Amino acid sequence: MSAKKKCKGESKPILQGRILEQLPLTSLKGVGPSIEKKLHNIGIRSIQDLLFHLPLRYQDRTRISPIGSVRLGDNVLLQGEITGNRIDFGRRRSLLCGLADASGLISLRFYYFTAAQKNNLQCGQKVRCYGEVRRGKSGFEIYHPEYHLINDANPVPVEENLTPIYPATEGLQQNRLRNIIGQALKLLDGSNEVVDYLPQTITSALGLESLTEAVRLLHLPPTETALDWISHGIHPAQKRLSFEELLAHRLCMRRLRLKSDHQQAPPLLAGHDLCQQFIAHLPFKLTAAQLAAFEEISSGLKNTHPMLRLLQGDVGSGKTVVAALSSLQAIGNGHQVALMVPTEILSEQHVLTFSNWFEPLGLNVGWLSRRSRGATRTEQLAAMKNGDCDLTIGTHALFQEDVEFQKLGLIIIDEQHRFGVHQRLSLREKARQGLSPHQLVMTATPIPRTLAMSAYADLDCSIISELPPGRTPVNTVVIPSERRNEVTARIEQACKDNNQAYWVCTLIDESEALQCQAAEATAEALGKQLPAVTIGLIHGRMKPEEKTRVMDNFKTGLLHLLVATTVIEVGVDVPSASLMVIENPERLGLAQLHQLRGRVGRGNKSSHCILLYQSPLSQTAKQRLGVMRDSNDGFYIAEKDLEFRGPGQVLGTQQAGLMSFKVAELSRDANLLDEVKSASALILTQHPEIVDALIHRWLGDKQHFAQV
Ligand code: ADP
Ligand code: MG
Repeated sequence: MSAKKKCKGESKPILQGRILEQLPLTSLKGVGPSIEKKLHNIGIRSIQDLLFHLPLRYQDRTRISPIGSVRLGDNVLLQGEITGNRIDFGRRRSLLCGLADASGLISLRFYYFTAAQKNNLQCGQKVRCYGEVRRGKSGFEIYHPEYHLINDANPVPVEENLTPIYPATEGLQQNRLRNIIGQALKLLDGSNEVVDYLPQTITSALGLESLTEAVRLLHLPPTETALDWISHGIHPAQKRLSFEELLAHRLCMRRLRLKSDHQQAPPLLAGHDLCQQFIAHLPFKLTAAQLAAFEEISSGLKNTHPMLRLLQGDVGSGKTVVAALSSLQAIGNGHQVALMVPTEILSEQHVLTFSNWFEPLGLNVGWLSRRSRGATRTEQLAAMKNGDCDLTIGTHALFQEDVEFQKLGLIIIDEQHRFGVHQRLSLREKARQGLSPHQLVMTATPIPRTLAMSAYADLDCSIISELPPGRTPVNTVVIPSERRNEVTARIEQACKDNNQAYWVCTLIDESEALQCQAAEATAEALGKQLPAVTIGLIHGRMKPEEKTRVMDNFKTGLLHLLVATTVIEVGVDVPSASLMVIENPERLGLAQLHQLRGRVGRGNKSSHCILLYQSPLSQTAKQRLGVMRDSNDGFYIAEKDLEFRGPGQVLGTQQAGLMSFKVAELSRDANLLDEVKSASALILTQHPEIVDALIHRWLGDKQHFAQV
């Protein structure tokens, strides 16, 4: 029995549906090789793809509004008579026409126009036009309306459906796209349907409507469609598609996981002496949450297939110790560990921490840094290759081609959110040589449940749910830059009182060079303003030795104030620092702000964070900084971050990556995720034959990111 028959019964027009996938785009009128290429560029390769290129929004051109009734900002379809036209020689020359109906008068303004246009728009000419109402010099105006001339002999009907606005591409105008997609939709009117791969058990249990109907409706919503529902993304047709899209994404990640479950990993048994000795020497007692998380990791490491586990815990919850314990379990079983971190500063810091912890146990901690060249590098590589080095710490240089391990049993990735989904997945590929190592992925940006269920659906999850005792929440205030002097005065006072502070400079432009310049300038200015304060500077462009020196001086208290770029975001641990100023916090994502703020409040002093913003703030920026002021809860902040910025940015991958959705929106559709989860489990076990088709439909070319 064929796959599709099995899930949908005999009556489905399977072949016809396939035709939509197979018919070349050039079979549509007006699509030649050049348009076809443009469509390819936006991932559209078949008629089916066209049908799944869904509108971003709609315009209502189904009724003509009385001119007297329009309001500012409305998008309206108007019809009336031209009352006259003239050239307006304002700052920019433009053609201004009056348009009147029985209810009122409005102006149409054209900055680009031809003599023929001016001629056509003569007094008395009937015109129908569409555009946005703005306030102009002459009262309400529409700039560059779309219009056509009406003559009574040849009346034009109004549109019957709402007009879709598609995500555009260069060289493909809306009209053209609308026309092409319109033709594809016509194919649906015949006996063709979009193949509905979902088993009946799922669609009927969820009350999902017909896929073909949903597609049709979203392209051409009839006038009576609840546009409000559509714009809020809660129309049943959208739910139908969002569900399937989220399902396809989850299937993609789960399939990856299943593949890995079939690989062999070295079983790393628990209960080794090393772990006991390590715990006995720690200057503090592990929290119950740390122990519970380690318990879960430990039992995963015992398995003969690779553990893939995400360890989440808020900033400062003590993930590093848990990573150490996990490493010791691997090392105790005669295996090596690689610890990958996103920045050199963090790798350096981990080298110190882990050397202090592991060297007394007789273990070797190695460091593969950008700095290691020549003989040092050769030696380090040899130690990894011959198995001398138990734990190697480094940035992604750790997984370059010339790097080999003798017996790699565990890979730990710290601060995963800085790497992004693709990097994580590609790493798995690199690590594969015979036995697959176990993987522990740590993140200090708590991952909203919604993301955990999609972008991280290939990972099991452990959470460190409490902070070590004695931490006081950081008190956060939001202050405009006009009050900068108060802030510097406060720093002066804090330093006098023997506290230490960070001053973090941010820039919109990710360019490191500019960031560093800004930090340099700030350090200089603060130096002049606060002569009594010893100031250090740290940024990404400094030599590693210099960075180390500055960090050491700050740690030992030689420096009071550390001016820094966001390089200190991850992992920097100086418990005595208790004040942080973040300049232009409105430029950063919430998760990043939370990370930065996590650099203070590590000791038992009461700590403060000042968000020094550049006014005026936009409404959303105000809300976002408000979230920071009101909450210290990383999970709450992460949810808000996702709401404000969407998964693409939260995951740190700007490129159209795995997690860009066409219809679904994670925060909005969170309520679908439980059902998506069980549907994906059901499909993987009972209908594995539809997995490919679903993934292909929704992820198309993108799926190769996940084909590891
Ligand atoms: P993060 O989870 O952000 O990586 P770290 O592992 O850097 O946090 O830990 C933050 C600080 O808390 C470190 O100085 C660490 O030594 C300390 N710490 C970790 N666990 C405990 C504990 N159980 N009790 C007290 N301090 C702890
Ligand atoms: Mg950490």
